[in-house]
Amino acid sequence: MPGELTPNALVTLRARYLRKNQRGEVVENPEQLFRRVARAVAAAEKAFGGSGAAAEAEELFFEDMAALRFLPNSPTLMNAGTEMGQLAACFVLPVADSLPEIFNSVRDAALIHQSGGGTGFSFSRLRPAGDRVKSTMGISSGPVSFMRVFDAATEAIKQGGTRRGANMGILRVDHPDILDFITAKDREGELANFNISVAISDGFMAALNRGGSYPLVNPRDGEVVREQDAGEVFRTIAAHAWQNGEPGVVFIDRVNASHPARHLGEIEATNPCGEQPLLPWEACNLGSLNLLRFADRQGVIDFPQLGEGVARAIRFLDDVVEVNRYPLPAIAEMTRKTRKLGLGVMGFADLLILRGIPYGSEAALRAADELMGFLRRESLAASRRLAQERGPYPGFAGSPGQRAGEAPQRNATLNTVAPTGTLSLIAGVSSGIEPVFAFAYQRHVLGTVLEEVHPLYERRRRLGEPIDPRVFVTARQISPEWHVRMQAVFQEHVDNAVSKTINFPAEAPVEEVENAFLQAYQLGCKGLTVYRDRSRRQQVLNVCDSK
Ligand code: ADP
Repeated sequence: MPGELTPNALVTLRARYLRKNQRGEVVENPEQLFRRVARAVAAAEKAFGGSGAAAEAEELFFEDMAALRFLPNSPTLMNAGTEMGQLAACFVLPVADSLPEIFNSVRDAALIHQSGGGTGFSFSRLRPAGDRVKSTMGISSGPVSFMRVFDAATEAIKQGGTRRGANMGILRVDHPDILDFITAKDREGELANFNISVAISDGFMAALNRGGSYPLVNPRDGEVVREQDAGEVFRTIAAHAWQNGEPGVVFIDRVNASHPARHLGEIEATNPCGEQPLLPWEACNLGSLNLLRFADRQGVIDFPQLGEGVARAIRFLDDVVEVNRYPLPAIAEMTRKTRKLGLGVMGFADLLILRGIPYGSEAALRAADELMGFLRRESLAASRRLAQERGPYPGFAGSPGQRAGEAPQRNATLNTVAPTGTLSLIAGVSSGIEPVFAFAYQRHVLGTVLEEVHPLYERRRRLGEPIDPRVFVTARQISPEWHVRMQAVFQEHVDNAVSKTINFPAEAPVEEVENAFLQAYQLGCKGLTVYRDRSRRQQVLNVCDSK
């Protein structure tokens, strides 16, 4: 088994995942890691089926991970079976409009970062800068200045010295400070531990559509502060996204309208990379299936095998909800109420290459539709079976699904397409549903430079087979329209959201970014992240030969 891990995978595992003793020496090999995780997660099943079920599950889970068919998110790999025991990657915390509550959230976020999780916040409830503060007769400094406090706290923690904390900061488009927020990361290095995203409402989109204005509202008292031209805000968002990739947008009304547990509250924020919208205090654990391990050398998927893989993965992730040690009681309570999971995929672009399908093509969209539609149906069937065995998620009572007479589910949500930034490195495949970034490049990870040549590219070269440039296509060679269309097809079959970067060439005009936002809204995406080549000085990946 460990023989299948690439040298880069081993470097990554050693640096961050394998257990170390107090002297910092690695005391675990990859096989032992997967065994530790399988055993700790399968222990949940003792409560359902006794030790026999737990032993059976342990073997299944171990086999899946050791064969690199399925990997849970990083905190599960790092912390399962350890004293820490915090297994989820995604959290959303509320931020309320008072000093004690703001600083409570800073503290809560610190605890989550320490455990390897990423946090998302909506700052929309904070009164705007310059607004009055009754207790001190002073004036408030506003959401953006408080974000700097969260940023500084994150900077100070540096998760265990290896993983720096990650935050998502969200502000509603109708908050009076929206323009300050959009420009908050203008200078490189500002709010470095934050991704920022504007929560865009349907009302805003309607105003934009008719070329009109919309009200900016003070969240403290609900008063309209002034009317704001929608086009101006929209163009400012696009101009800044063009400039350095931020802010992103999240179509917040769409997120809530399609939220299966919307009877429990309003979603205001997502996790750091945007693929997981969550209620305040909710956590979610993710996992990803490695599509290449369910396909033959021509990229043809073995659907019966994949279906079984999906069922085991859902069972695994549901067990994680059970054994997870939550950092705060409020998080434990909320997370157990909805039991959300985020099962997704990695290696999709590699699969297309094997099949000889260009990423930006109708055939690729059809492949995505077939694949994710299948995954969705199998995930649902698996969660429904679990509901019969173990009971539905407690929040199912009163949910729109229950009222519509649908079969109970064990989990309020099932699917998410995660970035799989490090998981894909461990599995040695293309990340998430992204196209290949480059076929030969240097990757800067944790202070070391890893050289990488794409394995399918390498094999063709070695065998002296021709490289079809339509098929061996990089992210920057695919037009933004195709990127957005691909995201939309996956979103159609995903109840959470999809991590995807819409890449633009360096010379793309800002209007193209505006068009991508509009297209994403029209096609039913839940949000959008763009990146124009070379628009940030620090890029994680440096191409040395994109062929
Ligand atoms: P991985 O491959 O390590 O499992 P992903 O790249 O798929 O992680 O990211 C999934 C989610 O994990 C992110 O959206 C975020 O919530 C969380 N996450 C990723 N990187 C970090 C980090 N450095 N610190 C905290 N959370 C993170």
